[in-house]
Amino acid sequence: MAAGARAAVYRRGTVARGGGRCAARLAADAARRPTLIAHGTEEQKRRFLPPILPADELWCQLFSEPGAGSDLTALRTRAEPAAGGWLVSGQKVWTSYAQFARWGILLARTDAAAPGAKGLGFFVCDMQAPGVSVRPLRQMTGSEEFNEVFLDGVFVPRAQLVGAEQQGWAIAGTTLAHERGTSPRQLVIHRMLLDDLLHLARDGVDGAAPRAADPVIRQRLAQHFIDVEITRLNSWRTLSRLARREPLGPESSVVKLFWSEMSQRMHDTLMDLLGPRGLCWQPGAHAVGGGRLARSYLYYRAATLFAGTSEIQRNILAERVLGLPRAR
Ligand SMILES: Cc1cc2nc3c(=O)[nH]c(=O)nc-3n(C[C@H](O)[C@H](O)[C@H](O)COP(=O)(O)OP(=O)(O)OC[C@H]3O[C@@H](n4cnc5c(N)ncnc54)[C@H](O)[C@@H]3O)c2cc1C
Repeated sequence: MAAGARAAVYRRGTVARGGGRCAARLAADAARRPTLIAHGTEEQKRRFLPPILPADELWCQLFSEPGAGSDLTALRTRAEPAAGGWLVSGQKVWTSYAQFARWGILLARTDAAAPGAKGLGFFVCDMQAPGVSVRPLRQMTGSEEFNEVFLDGVFVPRAQLVGAEQQGWAIAGTTLAHERGTSPRQLVIHRMLLDDLLHLARDGVDGAAPRAADPVIRQRLAQHFIDVEITRLNSWRTLSRLARREPLGPESSVVKLFWSEMSQRMHDTLMDLLGPRGLCWQPGAHAVGGGRLARSYLYYRAATLFAGTSEIQRNILAERVLGLPRAR
């Protein structure tokens, strides 16, 4: 892996350890920058890339809609031609960090007559433009990370079309491959979670007997250690590929599928170790670590959904890597 790519891993790792808004920003922007680098005009790169890395401008991803999640090509948001650009109308949902975002990458239908993946355009949407309204949705962690976004005749200038007018689906493929294939932040977070699990097993929870000698817990902890190492190697394989300037292909799904399912197995062990205190997800007398670990369990239930569900990752691997027949 080239020094530049390695430095990026450590930089993100450091930020993730710091937690907070900065980590959220980098997580949200991890896939936008490569998409603009690969498909943006020189003018778009000059305008949009510099503020992304220092997190001076946050981006969101306006892809999913109420009727288009796994089957994203069913999306109905329309981009109607107007003088100097398009007027965009429709509804997006599950849009992470839209309430903080300055810009959004947007998939919208430029040709209503074209079926499915054909006739989609990929745009940069100004989240402060008239006609954009954002309504936060409360998650079971108690926080409001994702949103509904309503677009009502939002003007998008021609200069903010990325690629050709009907090329949106191919460009979205770059975004999704990066979102799935580059997750060094998740590596750092799950290494920290492994430390938490070891600590809880050795010390016991709030005066309860330590579980480190429990043969089942020991087996599970050893397996989690192996899985975190596999996640590290998967991440480095992706970054090495990027360092060689090779495109990320459908193999990205391996990375996403593996770490997200590993995460849920590790969080199941966490709940086992926390016992009844795992129910206390808000700060209070019985909450362990102010409820941080219990909230982590709740948050990572979504890991096998966002960036494409596990079923969709397996379909991609079956069809595009193993060459099996299409599901439908
Ligand atoms: C925390 C979180 C953050 C998110 N952030 C964003 C964001 O910033 N921007 C954005 O655009 N989207 C975002 N999403 C949306 C996410 O991409 C979708 O939730 C996901 O693609 C699934 O779509 P859906 O929820 O509509 O479920 P559906 O597509 O309705 O799927 C329902 C179930 O059916 C299964 N299923 C569907 N089709 C198939 C098939 N062909 N074969 C087998 N099983 C199938 C799915 O696996 C799933 O279990 C986020 C989601 C979450 C949970």
